[in-house]
Amino acid sequence: MNRLLFACLLTLCVRSNTIAQIKAYRLFFGITTQSPAQVVLRQWQQNAQTRYLIVNPQTLKTTVVTLPLNQVRALTWPGVMQAVERTPYGLTMRLEQQRDYNLQDAGIERADTTERGFSLTIDLCPSTKPLTRPVFEQLIQAFEPEEKPIPVTITITGLWMENHGQDLAYLKSLVSRGDLDITWVNHSFHHRYDPQLPLPINFLLEATTDLNDEVLLNEQAMLKNSLTPSIFFRFPGLVSDKAVFDRVLAFGLLPIGSDAWLAKNQQPKQGSLVLIHANGNEPLGIADFISLIRKKSAFIRNKTWLLYDLPTSVAQGK
Ligand SMILES: [Zn+2]
Repeated sequence: MNRLLFACLLTLCVRSNTIAQIKAYRLFFGITTQSPAQVVLRQWQQNAQTRYLIVNPQTLKTTVVTLPLNQVRALTWPGVMQAVERTPYGLTMRLEQQRDYNLQDAGIERADTTERGFSLTIDLCPSTKPLTRPVFEQLIQAFEPEEKPIPVTITITGLWMENHGQDLAYLKSLVSRGDLDITWVNHSFHHRYDPQLPLPINFLLEATTDLNDEVLLNEQAMLKNSLTPSIFFRFPGLVSDKAVFDRVLAFGLLPIGSDAWLAKNQQPKQGSLVLIHANGNEPLGIADFISLIRKKSAFIRNKTWLLYDLPTSVAQGK
């Protein structure tokens, strides 16, 4: 075997090892014994290790870690909530419990209203069309060097990941190049939608939806693609009812809505969660966004108009 081929095989082997199968993926609630204490949300087996998804209750940032058993204290979900009740995570969770009733757009739709700018959220619902790459190119052109990396939130579905390997690799290359800092949000695995059905029985409210699958299969697909799931969740179609909303909270997740869906002509305010779709299905919102950043270019240059990191904005929400 020639040396080059051998080296390639070796690389493949190492790669497949790093994305080795995820087994026994499950909800697991607890607190780490390290200081400051982190909240444990999930546990699974990978590469012969026990791994955890944890969230820092002060910053709302998540990480994947391996921890020795004696550094994790298992708790019930109410026990976790009690332990973090005075942290930004506990307080945001309590606010979410009062936001669960709207059929559309329930959840956090605006964060820190003292911000001079907003958080950009980009949805990747299932689509047969390629990623709208120009929006990322324009973003980088508009905000660098004032912001580098540029904080953006991308909500992602399992079906999109299955069909857009190269587009996903492109997004990851923007992160490794230092252009973007992406907060990855679970947008459900299948993103079910039936154009024939009224909203109260559509999207995740369709009768045969398996919510466990929609949440946990998508998290596993994200992890297999080396994306760390954030603490947020966005409902497909921004549609939910009290029951499904409360069940998502019970996964430890914070649902996000939007008060500025650009394609619906909703104008961004300070601290808005602005929504556009970069999955090829919403050219209007993309055009609006590009014209908005062009109009604001002088303010971007003197840093009086910026994009904000979503976990930080929510943690500091006013
Ligand atoms: Zn969607």
